[in-house]
Amino acid sequence: MKRVFLVLITIVFSLGIYAQPKYVFYFIGDGMGFNHVRLTQMYLAELQEKIGCEPLVMTSFPVVGIVATHSSSNPITDSAAAGTALATGKKTANGVLGLDDENEEVYSIADTLKKIGWSVGVSTSVSIDHATPGAFYAHVTKRSKYFKIGTQLADSDFDFFAGSSFLKPIGKVRKDSLCLYDLCEQKGYAFARGYENAQELLDTNKLILIDHNDGLTPSQLGKGRLAYGLEKQDTDLTLAKIVSTGVEFLSKKEKPFFFMVEGGSIDRAAHSNDAKNTIGEVLEFDSAIAVAYNFYQEHPDETLILVTADHETGGLALGKKKHFLNLKVLDNQKVSVDSLNNAIKELHAKLGAKIQYKNVQELLTKYLGFYTNIAISKENDALLQEKFNNIKQNKDKNVKTLYSEVYELSNLAIKIINEQAFIGWTTNSHSANPVPLFAVGNGAENFGGCIDNSFIANKLTELLCPPLPQDSTVTVETEEE
Ligand SMILES: [Zn+2]
Repeated sequence: MKRVFLVLITIVFSLGIYAQPKYVFYFIGDGMGFNHVRLTQMYLAELQEKIGCEPLVMTSFPVVGIVATHSSSNPITDSAAAGTALATGKKTANGVLGLDDENEEVYSIADTLKKIGWSVGVSTSVSIDHATPGAFYAHVTKRSKYFKIGTQLADSDFDFFAGSSFLKPIGKVRKDSLCLYDLCEQKGYAFARGYENAQELLDTNKLILIDHNDGLTPSQLGKGRLAYGLEKQDTDLTLAKIVSTGVEFLSKKEKPFFFMVEGGSIDRAAHSNDAKNTIGEVLEFDSAIAVAYNFYQEHPDETLILVTADHETGGLALGKKKHFLNLKVLDNQKVSVDSLNNAIKELHAKLGAKIQYKNVQELLTKYLGFYTNIAISKENDALLQEKFNNIKQNKDKNVKTLYSEVYELSNLAIKIINEQAFIGWTTNSHSANPVPLFAVGNGAENFGGCIDNSFIANKLTELLCPPLPQDSTVTVETEEE
């Protein structure tokens, strides 16, 4: 009997059934609360004339958790404190990256795994020095120290980075100051500008993939993000292309890998209370998760995929009218509030004092379906015209949110379409609403239930370091004798 039992143990260990995952994907949707996911699912259902939820890749995962996001300093976190908790398992104060409340450096799961021989990838749809990616490699008292964060990226020795670019590639002007692009090259990184270029550089030792449209040189600073899903062209770099490049690059190392992927612009869209852009960014994020899920299907016993968020943004609520939603009205919105605003701005610059309200109404029809597909009440039209007059008379008070500054007119137009969809927002900032966690693969069962954001990295450390024996055949046979 003892012999049979030991043989069974031998087989189990030999098959690697109890071994820890070799490939770990850690997806973080910046600002993605439960309702951002649900909004996207119910919008997709309404487009098909259905009431309910269309499945996303992430919502098909078998394990679901509810994650608390408060920081050590505030009930409502920012991305730096939340990123630090998600990356290191340690709570810290808002604004702080990779340091604890005693100002001691705390190290991320990516750092720990790199030290024990794993390959590491860190990527985002915004800049690679932003709070969430930074939490995996940087240690700074203020998340806005972008140049310093960039120098710490260069020193990280991680294998793969990807995002739009650096926000601050040159530090304070000093004679010896180096541009971050040069510094990273000195540390052995190759730069790929765009997806096609990256395909030519897959055999390099360490790779940084940046957007060919964004900030290629220090003097050409771009938007600090990839194109929005709502507005992207086929040739644009996307988060899904980043994940497929990263998987290919990291697989070539023939080592276990850890790959963090941030959907960074869900937060931006939600700061602007722009529901349609929020949906577009959740779908971009889900497309990137789909790439990892395909990899998981090829390596189901060796892969773990975690999807969560750093905090909720906007206090998004689904419902402002008794028992009704009208999400499909958002199908009329073709661009983000920022691009709508740019279109109005360009027209104003072109026509100058000759600009008339009807010119702006034409743009509202083109980009939002106003007056043709969507009826605009007399009251709302009067309000829009009042905001237009403010622009014409240089009396417009721009509406400024964390990542965007638009005319009151553009802000109002998006508010009107959100109201028609019966969607509510409580804030232009973050909320304490819990965020979801979805998990699939080897070890996924450890991440369900009501958890704190610091739990995830601590549990990953417990599961992955030090590695369990891959094959205990020899040990068991010795005991048998
Ligand atoms: Zn935010």
